[in-house]
Amino acid sequence: MTTGRADIVVAGGGPAGYLAAAALAAAGLAVTLVDPRSDARWPNRYGAFADELQAVGFGDVAGATWRRTEVRLDEARTIAMDRAYAAIDGEALRRRLAAELAGHGGVTVDAACTGADHDERGVTVHTSAQGAWRARLLVDATGHRPRFVTRRGPDPSAFQCAWGVLGEFEGPAPDPDTMTFMDWSEPGDGAPAGVPTFLYAMPLGEGRAFFEETALASRPAASFAYLRGRLDVRLRQRGVRVVRELEIERCLIPMDAPAPDRRQRVVGIGGAASLVHPATGYMLTHTMKVAQRLAAALAEGIRADRSPARLASAGWDAVWPAGERRLHAFYALGRDLLMGLDAEGTRDFFEAFFSLPEAAARAYLSRELAPARTALAMTRLYARFDPALRQHLHREVLRRPAELIRGLVGLPGAS
Ligand SMILES: Cc1cc2nc3c(=O)[nH]c(=O)nc-3n(C[C@H](O)[C@H](O)[C@H](O)COP(=O)(O)OP(=O)(O)OC[C@H]3O[C@@H](n4cnc5c(N)ncnc54)[C@H](O)[C@@H]3O)c2cc1C
Repeated sequence: MTTGRADIVVAGGGPAGYLAAAALAAAGLAVTLVDPRSDARWPNRYGAFADELQAVGFGDVAGATWRRTEVRLDEARTIAMDRAYAAIDGEALRRRLAAELAGHGGVTVDAACTGADHDERGVTVHTSAQGAWRARLLVDATGHRPRFVTRRGPDPSAFQCAWGVLGEFEGPAPDPDTMTFMDWSEPGDGAPAGVPTFLYAMPLGEGRAFFEETALASRPAASFAYLRGRLDVRLRQRGVRVVRELEIERCLIPMDAPAPDRRQRVVGIGGAASLVHPATGYMLTHTMKVAQRLAAALAEGIRADRSPARLASAGWDAVWPAGERRLHAFYALGRDLLMGLDAEGTRDFFEAFFSLPEAAARAYLSRELAPARTALAMTRLYARFDPALRQHLHREVLRRPAELIRGLVGLPGAS
């Protein structure tokens, strides 16, 4: 039994699903978003550089914002970034997207998508609610372990792991205008030993703060007990005492999800499309851009009455354009380089990285590398590396020479 018809069914109502659904509806398409709890609060706390959020048209969902962002390497070395950072107000973002979706006639359904049957004209999407939806195309936004998208490679094995506490604290007051993007200093005596971790800290005023201990990328995943142990020691060492825990965040982000198979009839977005930045774990502002590109491509394809297979292919080109596919090798190189470093090597790496010209560091973090600039940034980074780091880089580069060369030459439209 068919319950309804749409141009596009979006499976998943996390940030990626809502971003895609709202953009597709605004582009004039009939959209149905399906999620078992379509109006539930998202569980994760999101953050982004304020200028990036602004640039993709979502400056209005910035919550607490810090004028300065710093990277602390150890007791002696701190790098100040002249860049504001924002905690994203997840509820404001979700409500804005839900209103945009509804305002353009989109529909939300509280159910899980349980299956999809593709045929020449489109797809029948089965749900856990009664009935099924008929559409031209299914967009999978079901997260990092996608329900429908298939990928070309083994399951992820490298993860960003973090243990965070939002709470009320007593102790030395942090600078309210500075967000600590990374603090790689040693947590202190008695901390469990293992992979290097850093503190991500947001002072929230009135004795409240969010502190998170993070293993940037580790294989196998660092355990929450390990991260929690290091955070406890770090805070104690600084004389910071938790008075009241308001929220605990357990974060696990796959950092090496294989590329999706672009020949499939389902198009993915967000975690489902492996859009996580492999060296930072960030995804959201990039997905905001990708949602707009996807909507434009699918709206054009549907107006031109393209076949579902051609629509899907155009959709994947919008989600993973050729240039971004090729440059992915450079972000993955950053991840693998970091995974092979001990704490001291990690500090040296970030000291070199953050002393690059600001535009180059920014382009790497924001995934806006262009080939000529990439080559220049790599050369500058190399010049700042010590011999051990250089050797490690040689090894990692030699593991993927063809991909890196492809990334540096012949990128369409790159500056
Ligand atoms: C704790 C944490 C913190 C993070 N912080 C940041 C950050 O600060 N900045 C950043 O850029 N990135 C961050 N990330 C990375 C990334 O942005 C998030 O993982 C993000 O939530 C991924 O969005 P998504 O919509 O792809 O998937 P999800 O948020 O996982 O949403 C998937 C949705 O799909 C639904 N679903 C699942 N199966 C089905 C089905 N069969 N049918 C219908 N619906 C289904 C689920 O109910 C869920 O609502 C963080 C990740 C984590 C885990």
